Amino acid sequence: MRFSCGTKQFAATVLDLLRQQYPDAGPRLLFSNPYQALVATILSAQTTDEQVNRVTPALFAKYPDVKALAEADLADVEATIRSVGLYKSKAAHLVAAAQKILTDYQGKVPADFDSLLSLPGVGRKTANVVLFNAFGKPGLGVDTHVHRVANRIGLCKTKNPEGTEKHLKEVIPEEKWGKAHHLLIFHGRRCCRARKPECTSCPLLNICINHGEAE
Ligand code: SF4
Repeated sequence: MRFSCGTKQFAATVLDLLRQQYPDAGPRLLFSNPYQALVATILSAQTTDEQVNRVTPALFAKYPDVKALAEADLADVEATIRSVGLYKSKAAHLVAAAQKILTDYQGKVPADFDSLLSLPGVGRKTANVVLFNAFGKPGLGVDTHVHRVANRIGLCKTKNPEGTEKHLKEVIPEEKWGKAHHLLIFHGRRCCRARKPECTSCPLLNICINHGEAE
């Protein structure tokens, strides 16, 4: 069967195949409320989820809520998350974000995209991920991995993650955005890696526009 790449039908077929391949696709970050989801997601930029999960238990024990983090000593936050990449800027963002939430949002993590985006350390990917993971609202986070995988498969042909987010949101139904993010992340980690993708064992081999020829 021939598909037109980049269309709704093609996207539905890709997601069906990925859902069969990765029935366990979902968040790997550990959190139990919107505050923890926001903190863990800010920490996860350019770092593995495993590294984040190693520091968050101590961080959440010291700073169990927005108010505690807003009043935190920056040097102590830095020390607590030191093993995570970019820990200095992330510590500053965490404290500044908590202060803004306390001042502008009555101490509650906002549950809408634009308000999330207004927080220090929160870009489009993080806002989308927090919307879905913390609030169950439609959100399709696109980082460099989702951008790479989506373009390789032929879900889109875009120059940057923002363009990919826009196109994927046009061809994937809103209620499937969050799941699509996790499926593409899983596929990028387990099969369609940046280097040496495992095309010969890929469930998308017959429909991927790269047909196993990705570099
Ligand atoms: S066939 Fe290769 S390039 Fe295409 S999605 Fe699968 S692993 Fe990625």
